[in-house]
Amino acid sequence: MDSKTLYAKAQTLMPGGVNSPLRACKYVNSEPVFIDRAEGAYMWDVEGRQYIDYVFSWGPMILGHQDPVVTEAAHKAVDMGSSYGAPCFGEVALAEEINKLIPSMEMMRMVSSGTEATMSALRLARGYTGRNKFVKFIGNYHGHADAFLAAAGSAAGVTPGTPGVPEEVVQHTLLAQYNDLDAVKAHFKESGDEIACIIVEPAAGNMGLVLPKEGFLQGLRDLCTEYGAVLIFDEVITGFRLALGGAQERYGITPDLTTLGKIIGGGFPVGCYGGKREIMEHMAPVGGVFQAGTLSGNPVAMAAGLATLQRLQECDYAAQEARTKALAEELTAIIAGKGQSVYLAQVGSAFTMYFSDKPVTSMVESGQCDAAAYATYWQQMLAQGVYLAPAGFECAFTSFAHTDEDFEKTLEAARNVTF
Ligand SMILES: *Cc1c(COP(=O)(O)O)cnc(C)c1O
Repeated sequence: MDSKTLYAKAQTLMPGGVNSPLRACKYVNSEPVFIDRAEGAYMWDVEGRQYIDYVFSWGPMILGHQDPVVTEAAHKAVDMGSSYGAPCFGEVALAEEINKLIPSMEMMRMVSSGTEATMSALRLARGYTGRNKFVKFIGNYHGHADAFLAAAGSAAGVTPGTPGVPEEVVQHTLLAQYNDLDAVKAHFKESGDEIACIIVEPAAGNMGLVLPKEGFLQGLRDLCTEYGAVLIFDEVITGFRLALGGAQERYGITPDLTTLGKIIGGGFPVGCYGGKREIMEHMAPVGGVFQAGTLSGNPVAMAAGLATLQRLQECDYAAQEARTKALAEELTAIIAGKGQSVYLAQVGSAFTMYFSDKPVTSMVESGQCDAAAYATYWQQMLAQGVYLAPAGFECAFTSFAHTDEDFEKTLEAARNVTF
């Protein structure tokens, strides 16, 4: 079946024909291609067309698709039984590996998605402090739990809230623009003794890539320390992406709690939250804060995650950053050479080329980018076999599987784009 036929059928069975809204390609005025298989840096659609991937399942596949070691680990695990609902070796092994790479995660809990991780971390912060309010940044996305769905970035649209979330549920959600430390200080000045936590993407990846300004993360750290609030780094994207030890290693700021997802599952559904022992011990059955999961610590996902983290320790992050930077800068020069305003943000193996004539430091500027120009670019790149995120306010990711030839082909495709 071709993509068009599948999409027509899918639309009768699923709202918008998809299981996650951005996949419908509305922001680029297009219809989705249906993927048949993926290997290395490539995906093939159901009609056999090959694409160089820069989405990588929105981040998890940093090693490329079907990394042989990860795939073998998952196969082996399936052969041992795919779920036990009881403790298993893989949970301990993965937790130990995470603790080694991110030492601030003294204790942790495995869950099945990033959404579950952030939702549980918020509950824990509230249970630990006995406070209800929390600070969240406009344009930061922390999954789709109710309390976070106020100005939640690209995936949930740019307007605050969504139908279905009672006002009472977000009344404790205090908003601030990303990088605006003064706005956070004002919240603490007004209600510091009621604020349980700040949750932040230490480099924001859901309104396009927005890097933290000098002093921003340190300022958040200081405020939390001063007021006895919990600092949560949502490293679902940045963990094992910006550095092996995540954004906290790269920027040298230690949060109290960290949430992980995406890469730690090696392509399987996994999330994880953890941090200071003293805080984590408030979780049941040691403490009173409840959270549970039928498939938590799933042995297949644990095996794939562990293999991924082990493989990543053999990878050269500095070299990957350098080649990503070179690619992103050359792409930007090509687009700028066509008279299209473009602003580049890049860190590690992630970048966003904003179609904008000014720097993007928060949702304000991100929301002002030229969506029509991005749609034009996206459509022409896809037609030439380059698979980019179907919205201008997303990250492009490179993987360790991309070859220099893949990058060269990508640049060639960009040279052919007309606006
Ligand atoms: C993707 C993402 C989430 C949600 O993870 P899911 O696995 O999609 O539930 C949370 N936080 C950030 C920063 C993310 O990028």
